[in-house]
Amino acid sequence: MNHLNEGIDLIYYRADGRPHIRVRGEVCSGCTEYRCVNVCPAGCYLEKDNEPGISFQYERCLECGTCRLVCGSGAIEWAYPRGGKGVIYRFT
Ligand code: SF4
Repeated sequence: MNHLNEGIDLIYYRADGRPHIRVRGEVCSGCTEYRCVNVCPAGCYLEKDNEPGISFQYERCLECGTCRLVCGSGAIEWAYPRGGKGVIYRFT
């Protein structure tokens, strides 16, 4: 077995019907570090043009949890999708 070629493939999403991440805009609008924009592997966070703050779309989220860990202002509220919902992975 060649471990260098092993990885994770994203299979599909099973929508939960409710967002598992909520960004508290009133908290993050004063942030100038934009760590979430820089670390998200799925590009869910984008800097807004011509105004402070970020825009967020959870639909492509991989549920890695990195944004919640790096946010220094506690602006990201997280609730895992309910059992059987969310991202489905396959280990190859
Ligand atoms: Fe991006 Fe991971 Fe946060 Fe989802 S959990 S928004 S993939 S950093």
